[in-house]
Amino acid sequence: MKKWPNQLFINNNWVDGVAGRKWDVINPATGAVLESVALADAHDVDIAVKAARKAFDDGPWPRMDPLARGRLLFKLAEKIRENLADLAMTDTLNVGKPIRDTIGFDVPCAADLFESYAGLPDKISGKCYGTLPDNVTMQFREPMGVIAAIVPWNFPLTNAAIKLAPILACGNTVVLKPSEVSPLSAFMLAKLSLEVGFPQGVINVIHGTGAEAGAALVEHRGVDKITFTGRHQTGAQMLQAAKNGMKGVLLELGGKTPSIVLPDAPLENVVNGVITGIFFNLGQVCVAGSRLLVHASQHDEILSRIVSKVGSLRQGDPTDPKNHLGCLATDQHKKVVINYIEQAKKEGAKPVLADSKNSKNDGCFHAPVIFDCVTPSMTIAREEVFGPVLSVMTYKDEDDAVRIANDSDFGLMANIWTCDGGRALRIARRVKAGRIAINGGGALRPNVPVYGYKMSGIGAELGYEEAVHEYTNSKAVLYSLGTEKSPWPE
Ligand code: NAD
Repeated sequence: MKKWPNQLFINNNWVDGVAGRKWDVINPATGAVLESVALADAHDVDIAVKAARKAFDDGPWPRMDPLARGRLLFKLAEKIRENLADLAMTDTLNVGKPIRDTIGFDVPCAADLFESYAGLPDKISGKCYGTLPDNVTMQFREPMGVIAAIVPWNFPLTNAAIKLAPILACGNTVVLKPSEVSPLSAFMLAKLSLEVGFPQGVINVIHGTGAEAGAALVEHRGVDKITFTGRHQTGAQMLQAAKNGMKGVLLELGGKTPSIVLPDAPLENVVNGVITGIFFNLGQVCVAGSRLLVHASQHDEILSRIVSKVGSLRQGDPTDPKNHLGCLATDQHKKVVINYIEQAKKEGAKPVLADSKNSKNDGCFHAPVIFDCVTPSMTIAREEVFGPVLSVMTYKDEDDAVRIANDSDFGLMANIWTCDGGRALRIARRVKAGRIAINGGGALRPNVPVYGYKMSGIGAELGYEEAVHEYTNSKAVLYSLGTEKSPWPE
C-alpha cells in the first residue's frame, strides 16, 4: 500500500492546516499509526468554505454544460474502479472492516453512485405552470450553492460518495468533512477528482474533529446547506446551528431495525438474512437488523439455527479475505458497545453464546453477541448499539409484531420475512420506517430514496427527484406577455 495523501484538500491544493496540527490515524486491528494527517480548525474551514464559495459564485461548475458535468462524474466512477484495490485496503486498514466487504461492497457501491448520478445533470428540469393566458410562469431548478457534507466512519468512502454524487450532479460545490477517525479514503477520492479534472474549489476535503472543524463548518455563513450522516444526538446539534444560520439541513441518523419473521418464511434464507443484517460490518450499520421478532412457536428453532451459524463465522485480521468479521472502528466505540452489553445483562436479557472458537475479543475486536428474552422496554431494544449485538424478541400475532416493531424512537428500516406477498405488503404499510426490505431485498440503490421516520432523519438521501429537491433551489419566473392590465391603483 502506497502512502496516503495526508493534507487538507482545498481549492485543488494539498495544504497543511494553518496551525500546523497533526492527527494520527489508527489501524484499529493492530493499534498502529497508519498516517499522521493535517488537522483542520475553524480557520482552515473558513478557507475551504471561501474556496467553495468562489468556485460556486464565479467558477465554471454550476454553469457548465450539464453533459460535461456528468462526464466528469462518470470519469470519477471509472477512476474509483481502477483504484478499487487501494481504496478497499485503505478503508479496511482504517476502520477494521473485512477486505471481502470493502472489495465486494464499499468501493463498487461508491463507483456505482458516481456513475448513476453522472446521468442526472441534463435531466434536471423545472416546470411550466398554467396560469393566465397572457402570462407564462416557469419554475427553474438551480444549483443551491456551497454544501457542507459531514459523514461518519462506518462506510468511509461509500458515505462520502452518497453525499458527493448527488451534490455535484446538481451543480453545487462542496466541503466534505469525513470522520476524524477515517479520513484516508476521502483524501484518496480528492486525489482522483484532481486527476480527472474537477475545477478548482468544487470538491474540498477537510479533516478535523466534530467539535471543532465540524461545528465551524455548520456555523459558517458561506454554507448554504448542511447534509449530515451520523448519530441523532449530533443531528440535533446540527439543527440548532442550521436554525441560527437559516440554512437547509438534511439529516440521516440512526436506526433500530426490526426484522419480523412470519411463520411461513423459508428459515434457511431468514437465518442468512438475519445474520448478514446484524453482523455485516460488526453491526456498525445504520440499518443493522438489531431487533429480531419471531413467532413464539418458532423461537427455539430459529434461535438455535442462528447461534450455530454465527459460530461458523470467521473473525480476525480484516485484511484476510477469508474472514467474515473484522473489528470495531475504535477503542472508544468498543467501550460503548460493552456498556450496552453489560446494561442488557443487568436488565434481564439472556446472552446466548455461539461457539467462540472462530471469534476474537481482544483489542478493538468484539465477538457477536445474541440476547434472548429481550423485551421492548429494555435499553438494548431501544437504543442504537452500533455493534454486533442481536436482540431476540417473541410476538404472539401479526398485530403484536407490528406493535413491537413500531415501539421505537427510530424508523429507518424494517425487514419482513414471509412467502405471503399480500401479508408482507400489508405489514409493510403498517410499519413506520422509510425503507422496508421484504425477504432480504434491502440493498442500497442510487435511484431509490432513503428517508428516515421519527428520529432517524429529516429529508431524503439519494433518489433522483429527491436529490434534485434537496440540492437545488426552486426559482419561479412569472412572465407577463404585456397585455395584462394591473388592477391597482385603478
Ligand atoms: P457522529 O454523529 O458522532 O459523527 C458523525 C460526523 O459528525 C463525524 O464526521 C463527526 O466528526 C461529526 N461531528 C460530531 N460532532 C459534531 C458537531 N458538533 N458539529 C459538526 N460535526 C460534528 O456519528 P458516528 O459515531 O461517526 O457514526 C455513527 C452514527 O451514524 C450512527 O448513529 C449511525 O446510525 C449513523 N449512520 C446513519 C446512516 C444513515 O444513512 N441514516 C448511515 C451511516 C451511519
